[in-house]
Amino acid sequence: MDCIFCKIAQGLVPSQKLYEDSSIVAFNDINPAAPVHILVVPREHIPSAAAIREGHYALMGHIWTKIPVLAKKHGLEQFRVVTNAGQHAGQTVEHLHFHILGGHKLNAALG
Ligand code: 5GP
Ligand code: ZN
Repeated sequence: MDCIFCKIAQGLVPSQKLYEDSSIVAFNDINPAAPVHILVVPREHIPSAAAIREGHYALMGHIWTKIPVLAKKHGLEQFRVVTNAGQHAGQTVEHLHFHILGGHKLNAALG
C-alpha cells in the first residue's frame, strides 16, 4: 500500500523516530506547527479516527497512555493532542495519527 506513514512505520522512509514498539511509532512532524510537534501513529493502517472500531480498544488505550509520556519526555507539561478525520477537518495523510503540539502558547482556534 502506498501510504507514507506505513512506510515510516516500517522504516522504508526515513523519519526522526522518537519512540517505537510493536504496535505504535512516534516521530517528529516534517513541517512542525509548534516548537514540539510529534506524530503518534499505529503500525496498523487505520485510515482515520472515523475508522476506529471496538477491536482497536487496547491500541487506543496504549496510544493514549504513551502520549503524556512522550510529551513529558520532550519537555511538554502543557500540550494539545489533535487528530484530523477527513479533508474538511484538515486530514492530509490517510493513516490515523495523533499530533502532540506544544512548546509555546497555542492558538485557541479549534474550528
Ligand atoms: P494531517 O494534516 O493529516 O492531520 O497531518 C499530517 C501531518 O503529517 C502534517 O503535519 C505533515 O507535516 C506530516 N507529514 C506529511 N508527510 C510527512 C513525512 O513524510 N514525514 C513526516 N515526518 N511528517 C510528514
Ligand atoms: Zn498507512
